[in-house]
This record gives sequence, structure tokens and C-alpha cells, in this order.
Amino acid sequence: MATFIENAPEQIVAAAKELLEKGLVEGTSGNISARMEDGNIAVTPSSLDYRIMEVDDIVIVNPAGDVVSGERGPTSEKYLHLAVMNAYEDIGVCIHSHAVHATMFAVAQQDIPSCIDEFTVYLGGDIRCTEYAPSGSPDLAEQVVKALENRGAALIANHGMVAIGTTMQKTMHNTALVERSAKIIWGAKQLGAIYPLPEKVNENFANVYPFMR
Ligand SMILES: [Zn+2]
Repeated sequence: MATFIENAPEQIVAAAKELLEKGLVEGTSGNISARMEDGNIAVTPSSLDYRIMEVDDIVIVNPAGDVVSGERGPTSEKYLHLAVMNAYEDIGVCIHSHAVHATMFAVAQQDIPSCIDEFTVYLGGDIRCTEYAPSGSPDLAEQVVKALENRGAALIANHGMVAIGTTMQKTMHNTALVERSAKIIWGAKQLGAIYPLPEKVNENFANVYPFMR
């Protein structure tokens, strides 16, 4: 059975406010989805400020993308969330954000190399950047699914990032870890060369802590 989240709408609203507090999104940007026990997916509504978002504003869609309940329209990145949920049954949550340092790598269309042990442990290795595709398009959704293969996050070219996980807490942690690492690596590059983790270290981590989203 696919991984699901208890009280998905409540958890999404709390997470949306946490993203805002942590400075990982601004205004109405970014969006969150969580799979429910019946297989439907709860998503944030389109263009609603996180500060005033309430549980009733959350939209429920089925895996085909039809609205099952909710007064508002679903996020403009509906295709992205559905494609990720449908491709990876092991995850329960998908958070899309525009965190500044992660987006710097996305604009440069560079992967974020794994330079810190915890990066490989929690995210599975280097974070891949997609090829460019227009926001909200099915093409973008397909690119993101590919970039997330065996990873806990991916960068969206010229746009932002996506993190996935089995729980809301883990996915929030993955989002913050990508942003923090992007900031560190960007800063380290100003000091001179950066040294990604040796491949052997990544292999050892894979043996000791098998990667799990
Ligand atoms: Zn976006």
C-alpha cells in the first residue's frame, strides 16, 4: 500500500506556515501535497497567502487530478505533485519551494554536489537539476520525476526545488537541508575549490544507512 499521511490537510496548513517562517517561500509561492489513506491527494490551493490559509482551503484531488473536494482551485503545480505521487508510492509528502540558495543552483542549472555526510544520508547523494520546462507543465512534472529517482530532493531549472519524504517532518527537513547545503557550498566556492564527498564514502553510507526517503 502507498505511504499516506494522517490528517493531511491539517499537516499541510501547519507545514505551509513553517515554510514561510523559515524563509523557504514567500507570499503565495511554493506548494505542498500529501497522500491520504484513500489514495486521494491533499494539495495547497492556488494563489492563497500561507499566512491566512486554513484547513478548509486545502483542495483534495484524485490521482487523475480531478477535484474531489474543496472550494478553491488546486495549486498551479498540480501536475508536478500528481506525477511525483503516482511515480513514487513510498513517499507521502511533496514540498515545492523557492528557497534562495537552492534556486541559485537551479538558475545556474547545476546539480548540488554531496559535500556533507548528512546530505548523502538523508537525500541519497548529489541533487540533480532538471532540464528547463515551463512552470505548471506536464513536461516539467516528467523532468522532476526523473531527477528524483533514488533521491529525497531535486532542483527545477530556473525555478526552485522539490523535496519528498515519507512524513511531513522528514520532507520539511529535506527541504531545509537542501537549502542549508546550497548556502554552504555556494559560500565554500567563494573560498576556493570545493571537495565533494569521495565516491567511496557515498558507497559506505549506502551500506551503513541504506537510503530511505
Ligand atoms: Zn514554483
